[in-house]
Amino acid sequence: PEFEPAAVEENVYELPQEGDMRVPARVYASDALLDEMQSTGDLTLEQVRNVATLPGIRRFALVLPDGHQGYGFPIGGVAAVGREDGVVSPGGIGFDINCGVRLLRTGLDREALRGREDELAESLSRRVPAGLGKGGYVDTDRDDVLGILDDGLAWMRREGYATDHDLAHCEEGGRLDGDPGAVPPKAVDRGLNQVGSLGSGNHFLEVQRVADVYDDATADAFGLREEQVCVLVHTGSRGLGHQTCTEYVRRFERAYPEAVDALPDRQLVYAPLGDDLAERYLDAMRAAANFAWANRQGVTQAVRDAFTHDLGHGDVELVYDVCHNVAKVEEHGGERVLVHRKGATRAFPPGHPEVPEAYRDVGQPVVIPGSMGTHSYVLAGGERSMELTFGSTAHGAGRRLSRTQAKKDYPVGELRESLRERGVTVAARSEATLAEEAPGAYKDVDEVVRVSDALGIGTTVARLEPLVTVKG
Ligand code: 5GP
Ligand code: MN
Ligand code: MN
Repeated sequence: PEFEPAAVEENVYELPQEGDMRVPARVYASDALLDEMQSTGDLTLEQVRNVATLPGIRRFALVLPDGHQGYGFPIGGVAAVGREDGVVSPGGIGFDINCGVRLLRTGLDREALRGREDELAESLSRRVPAGLGKGGYVDTDRDDVLGILDDGLAWMRREGYATDHDLAHCEEGGRLDGDPGAVPPKAVDRGLNQVGSLGSGNHFLEVQRVADVYDDATADAFGLREEQVCVLVHTGSRGLGHQTCTEYVRRFERAYPEAVDALPDRQLVYAPLGDDLAERYLDAMRAAANFAWANRQGVTQAVRDAFTHDLGHGDVELVYDVCHNVAKVEEHGGERVLVHRKGATRAFPPGHPEVPEAYRDVGQPVVIPGSMGTHSYVLAGGERSMELTFGSTAHGAGRRLSRTQAKKDYPVGELRESLRERGVTVAARSEATLAEEAPGAYKDVDEVVRVSDALGIGTTVARLEPLVTVKG
């Protein structure tokens, strides 16, 4: 391998500070997961070293156990920067601004759904708009989208699409202080009628059963019990976020041509905090994050309709909603810093003031999806997350194969067959997507979660098994 990471403690590796790096780079992984990051063509380690060159970066650039190569930053990457001397890099947030997951619990047991899986799959596919240009759950004109960019979940509550309980169980209450005026007009256009839509590819909606509970007290606090039916929603800010990121990357490149030329990788392009352009981007990013929260809420409302009107049981409550593509100002090491999380989940420990009151004693809920047809996990923010990872853990199993490779390796026919054998009902709008999303295209989620737990950054609470998966 090109870089030889040194073991610091079990599951912690460090790449020493050298060259233009301002801090060391850290990899939180087992040997097996580290091997995957070093496999041919995967630039994860090179990218996390590049991140360590960012001005104002604190302590270390880091990559989590699900880490893999991304745009500039690795996916599964975290970087915290000082607010006076730091920078913001759109590549450290990602194109799908505030992509994230929310976990819903229902009052139903698995038995209540037996034999009704196809019916439920049909009902969800019909009620939750998915692919490009299919509309959204909420009809929105331009003013509505601007209102959502301003107010996120608070807009949804005002319009009757969210409850106080929903807001109280969402990271940041579902709103950051942004500026709709900073979102490029073309991006606003792309948000029209997309509120409450799944999007395509990696985004999904999954009905699951709680298969195992490992920590009774914490599961109880989260309102989860064995055999309970839950729903996991994974989506983000749709075309609106993508367009916002694309346009700001272009603006950054135009504004700082010399800095870009000096970068180890152009995709790392950044702007110094305090510069107009940096602040405009952050305002736009926060507004797009609000849009993503409203979007996940719209999908939730469609799920509620499906349960109420089609299954005759509407008791669907939000356990938690958490972002995995965002930058936020938080307190770490006695200082307010800007934390970039890109394919990384906030995982605040028990007692942290920003954990909702209902969960304060047990830690913030964290959801780590596995892949289509396998299983997913619920964790709680761990005691060591503040010390090791700026209060973060993994956001998924993490991709192992490129989409192109996955399509070659997993013919759709065989895939459908093996999912059926596992008892998972899958509704996918596109055959090509299905192949790209084959379970074999992702890493071993058990191993990712085991490492998170062993490190004490996120502790295992429950395991979820899919019954019905709806892919965008
Ligand atoms: P990302 O946000 O990076 O696209 O993906 C988040 C994670 O979701 C992936 O790393 C993968 O582990 C997981 N994932 C992707 N598709 C599915 C699915 O259909 N069902 C479940 N449970 N997880 C998935
Ligand atoms: Mn996304
Ligand atoms: Mn995502």
